Amino acid sequence: MIRLLAPLRKVKKKSPLRRGVRRGGSEIDLLHAYRKKLVELKIDPLQIERLDLGNDFYWLFRLSGFIAIAFGEFDRINEKHFAGKYSRPVIRFCNRSTGGFYNKTRHEIGISLAMTVEHGEAEFRETMLHEIAHIAQHSHSAAFYELLAKIGGSGRKAPMTMLLAAKRVRYVERNYPVIVHCPNCKREHRYKTRRALRYACRPCCVKYAGGKYDSRFKFIAQ
Ligand SMILES: [Zn+2]
Ligand SMILES: [Zn+2]
Repeated sequence: MIRLLAPLRKVKKKSPLRRGVRRGGSEIDLLHAYRKKLVELKIDPLQIERLDLGNDFYWLFRLSGFIAIAFGEFDRINEKHFAGKYSRPVIRFCNRSTGGFYNKTRHEIGISLAMTVEHGEAEFRETMLHEIAHIAQHSHSAAFYELLAKIGGSGRKAPMTMLLAAKRVRYVERNYPVIVHCPNCKREHRYKTRRALRYACRPCCVKYAGGKYDSRFKFIAQ
């Protein structure tokens, strides 16, 4: 555990090591960075423990297994649906919160490590198929979804992850720091600035004041 919390951050930004971690670093580097991020975002330690992220050997084995599956699937799909016309892309894990990407310039597929760790093979597969479909169809057009269905993808959205949920909470806290509540219905609202204290609760104004501003329902600072 101590090793996992080791000072990744102390490495200077421009060092090639750090860059290596960002772009394409090994599964274990990404796993450690993911775990560090969860701790930083104050995710419940029990939730983190449950994922057994400290078990490097297990995860290295499991994650490299997924990549091997992805290459096999790419070869099969390329042969069956594209007449073998594409070369193998780079397929690796990335630090996105969920889902993945296809980078055409680098001919590279990235699949969220956080999503794979939290949701397992089924979601890894969905994202992999989605990104393979992007090799042939750049945008999310009807033709894209048609192709995706043909190669076995469901087209469902990438799932929520603890990482994404925590990032959203942090975003809201940072960008909407003013918390106010209605003295009548007690509902809480978040706003960007303290100007919110001049507003009144809309549902209450509608319900009890014919939709007009009524100071009885003026927000109170939390
Ligand atoms: Zn897409
Ligand atoms: Zn109200």
